[in-house]
Parts: sequence; structure tokens; C-alpha cells
Amino acid sequence: MVKKLPKTKKVGPTRGLGPRYGSAVRKRYIKVITELKRPHKCPNCGFVRVHRESVGVWKCKKCSYTFAGGAYTPMTKLGVVARRAAKGLPVEETAKEAAKAAAVEPATEEETE
Ligand SMILES: [Zn+2]
Repeated sequence: MVKKLPKTKKVGPTRGLGPRYGSAVRKRYIKVITELKRPHKCPNCGFVRVHRESVGVWKCKKCSYTFAGGAYTPMTKLGVVARRAAKGLPVEETAKEAAKAAAVEPATEEETE
């Protein structure tokens, strides 16, 4: 008689995918989706009840405050820079930080000297 192996329960966002799409893609998917599914803090009332309504649209379940944000996170580094620029605040340092984070070419100010 063949002894059956104990069934191991697969958990996580990629449990339904099986071995498909490759481990690197599945790992990246896990990182994005866990951040997306996690309840976020509301910038209006402070409750951790913000969920994604649509791509880039975030809504608080407590106060129904709807706002625009990143596709997978309610706040992105580039979004912070854009907000500061819109307010007319200095954006130099935050812009550099965002550029570094996004792995975009850093500002080349020294070259003009
Ligand atoms: Zn709220």
C-alpha cells in the first residue's frame, strides 16, 4: 500500500499560480501585492482603512475620502516630489532621493561649472 504524503498547504498571494511564470516574477508579484492588499493609513482621518478602489485611486472606508496615489501604493516617492513642487516648496533633496530610488540618472549640476 502506498503511503500518502501529508498535504502541505500553500499560502501567499501566488498560491494559485503553482510553478508558473518563474520564481523571480512570483517574488516580485508577492512584494507588490502584499503592499497593495495591506490596509493603509488615511491622510484625512488617520485611520488605517484605506484600500485601493482602482489603479491609482485610493479610498478610505472610514471617511470615504478618495484620493489619487500610486498604482500599487497610496504614496510614491515621485508623488511626494510632485506634491512639493505643486506647493512651491524646495524639491531638490527629495527629487534627488526619488531619482536615486527610481534608479534614474542623478541630476548633473556639477557639469556646468
Ligand atoms: Zn479616512
